[in-house]
Amino acid sequence: MQKGVPFSSLKTIKQTAVLLNEGEKIPKNKNWQDVEIASHATCLKDKKAYASNFKVIEQESNKLYARRIFQQTGEKLLMINPPYPTMTEKEIDGSFDLPYTRMPHPKYNKRGPIPAYEMIKFSVNVHRGCFGGCSFCTISAHQGKFIASRSQESVLKEVDELTKMEDFKGYLSDIGGPSANMYQMKGKVQSICDKCVAPSCISPVICSNLDTSHKPLTELYQAVDAHPKVKKSFIGSGIRHDMLVPEFNKNADPKELDAYTEEVMTKHVSGRLKVAPEHTSDPVLKLMRKPSFTYFHKFKDRFDKINKKKKLNLQLIPYFISSHPACEPEDMANLAAETKDMGFQLEQVQDFTPTPMTVATVIYYSGYHPYTLKEVNTPKTKQEKLEQHKFFFWYKKENRKWIKDKLTKVGRTDLLTKLLPEDVSWRKNKPGKTKNTFDDAITFKPRSKSPRNKSRRLKKKRR
Ligand code: SF4
Repeated sequence: MQKGVPFSSLKTIKQTAVLLNEGEKIPKNKNWQDVEIASHATCLKDKKAYASNFKVIEQESNKLYARRIFQQTGEKLLMINPPYPTMTEKEIDGSFDLPYTRMPHPKYNKRGPIPAYEMIKFSVNVHRGCFGGCSFCTISAHQGKFIASRSQESVLKEVDELTKMEDFKGYLSDIGGPSANMYQMKGKVQSICDKCVAPSCISPVICSNLDTSHKPLTELYQAVDAHPKVKKSFIGSGIRHDMLVPEFNKNADPKELDAYTEEVMTKHVSGRLKVAPEHTSDPVLKLMRKPSFTYFHKFKDRFDKINKKKKLNLQLIPYFISSHPACEPEDMANLAAETKDMGFQLEQVQDFTPTPMTVATVIYYSGYHPYTLKEVNTPKTKQEKLEQHKFFFWYKKENRKWIKDKLTKVGRTDLLTKLLPEDVSWRKNKPGKTKNTFDDAITFKPRSKSPRNKSRRLKKKRR
């Protein structure tokens, strides 16, 4: 543009989209291959075609050498150029080393404190990208599946700048990234990754080509903490707890995983460690591209062991999602019963929110899984969503009757017994007192046969 080339003629810039007029010549680029997806008009008529488009888009956006995507859109042709490759260490360091003011835009000056700014003011981003590929998350669409990590020197330089800020009190709120523990992780043999189309490197299992060593990150935390003006650095970004379980993360040295977990628990959290198993039902987890809930149990065992050994008294806080595609009320009842059994009263939960550019949202809208093109049900109505969400709060007084009725109706009194045993305990203590079915029994209130109650009942009858 500085040379005076008109903006409208820039059509081969990577990571940009251009609408070509009818009959307009397609710009050539010998390094790019092309792929055409179902047209906009077809998608409006056919949700399955719309869903199948997503598979192409996701695979291309996760490839190192993506194809150029075309879609007929009315009279015009939409052309989406391939993305830029993952930044090298030198490039990402260069971008973070630019002379940022680290201040909000001056237009906010008169508005007083900005909560979002206060939260990130003393946080440091150590890498970009996420290879998790969770089906409800859009990070890999924004930042890519491959991780671009900063050098330790670049991170330490930024930490040093932060310590010089006027109101720095010695605390860093986060040393993180899209997922906290993916720093420096990449394929062992790059040429295998070059051809890979997998949307996730860790689902359904961890790819044997992925280097999942946590050593560089543990060393980075220690180097940050060694700064004389840093009293404590927190890890505020989400930690992939499954990657800390040797049975799941078979690529890494278990000692390294324990060293990282211990480092985080002893030095980088205050009181609570938040992790996100997201669900307990394995079919739902599979669709979420998350590992089996078994690994959360295994992580909890390790967490409890370190907690006890180091006398930390930390709390483990798990996050869960309700109303995700493929999640049925019964899955939520199971979730409530299983987490109760583990001693949790859930707080950190949310109902599924459709987010553009995610597999889960394509399923939510179209009813089809983009990869299998099989139908998948998603709870959509306000009532369905509210009901699923209610199971998280089984322990609240106002939800007990509803849960009791709901589980009775679907014949899952086994779950009711697990979830609200006190509501059915009288039945267990007095077998043979009634010939009702178990389901009837839990809605039936036994009355005391004491003489005092008998006279009360008679008085009432007379009245
Ligand atoms: S080959 Fe393995 S590590 Fe490389 S991109 Fe594919 S899944 Fe990830």
